[in-house]
Amino acid sequence: MKKLISIVVPAHNEIASLSSFLEDQLLTELSKIKDYNFEIIFVDDGSTDGTLDLLQEYSTRSKNFRVISFSRNFGKEMALTAGLRYARGDAAITIDADGQQPPKLIPTLLEEWEKGADIVVGVRDHYTKHGFIARNGSRLFYWLLRRMGNHYTVAGSTDFRLISRPVLDEFNQLPEHSRITRGLIDWLGFTPKYVKYTYGTRLAGKPSYNLKKLFRLAIDSFVSMSTTPLVIFGYIGVIITLLSGLLGLFCLINQYLLGDPLHLYWPGTLQMAILITFLVGLVLISQAMTALYISSIHTESLGRPLFIVNKKESRNL
Ligand code: UDP
Ligand code: MG
Repeated sequence: MKKLISIVVPAHNEIASLSSFLEDQLLTELSKIKDYNFEIIFVDDGSTDGTLDLLQEYSTRSKNFRVISFSRNFGKEMALTAGLRYARGDAAITIDADGQQPPKLIPTLLEEWEKGADIVVGVRDHYTKHGFIARNGSRLFYWLLRRMGNHYTVAGSTDFRLISRPVLDEFNQLPEHSRITRGLIDWLGFTPKYVKYTYGTRLAGKPSYNLKKLFRLAIDSFVSMSTTPLVIFGYIGVIITLLSGLLGLFCLINQYLLGDPLHLYWPGTLQMAILITFLVGLVLISQAMTALYISSIHTESLGRPLFIVNKKESRNL
């Protein structure tokens, strides 16, 4: 029996590039690979431009061309989530519908999987598509992510990836609503294998992700992955409180206990400023404390599993 591979493709208003992506790229590539059976799962994410009609037409040609139609636009992350949930394969490969992620790489992904990797991640070899802001924004994003203690996300890693059935089963059990698919897959562990590829230009059409949406995505990643931003403000509070406290103490001793032997003549306004700064520090600290409580509630509410067992490597369970 040949193994079944699920190709999961999210699509939102991709009519301009869809047939060329399918005919010239995906189907052509897949027809060259003889050792596997494929199912293609398209998730139509509330398209309004006829993408769904075209997909339905394709689906009449083969039972292995499956179409999930969302009732409205839920976003790429939900589309990927749905596609992976419906996947029946021994492994699933997620790929964009706009041709930026080359189906030519699929044999390489499969090869690495056969060699034993549970997850194979496509990593962009350089940033080709974006302007100055997006490119450096992306660098900053990964730098911040690492700073915040997320060491399992590799810079430039994309949604173009293969995940094997055991990982897929674990992924499908993750319950959280606000989700970034690749962040969750990274979180699952399983020592991914990284494969470099050149991120192409769009076949046609416009990307649905503008800077605003990307920014939102970045914020989501931070919020769902880390409490470090809160803790940073707490530390700033501690520093402010310590410094202004020392200054205040010095002022108190010098001026009121010793009668200003140093002849500093610190005016009342300055003393007031020191007092207020001290209080601001205290407020920051207490805010961070509150935030930590909220964050622990947040962590609990995500309801993630406590640990993920790698069944393949475990013995005599
Ligand atoms: N996409 C989707 N729902 C959305 C936005 C995008 O399913 O709300 C799909 C889109 O059709 C494409 C993939 O997600 O297949 C990547 O989107 P896009 O090319 O707009 O973003 P990029 O990551 O290339 O900037
Ligand atoms: Mg794209």
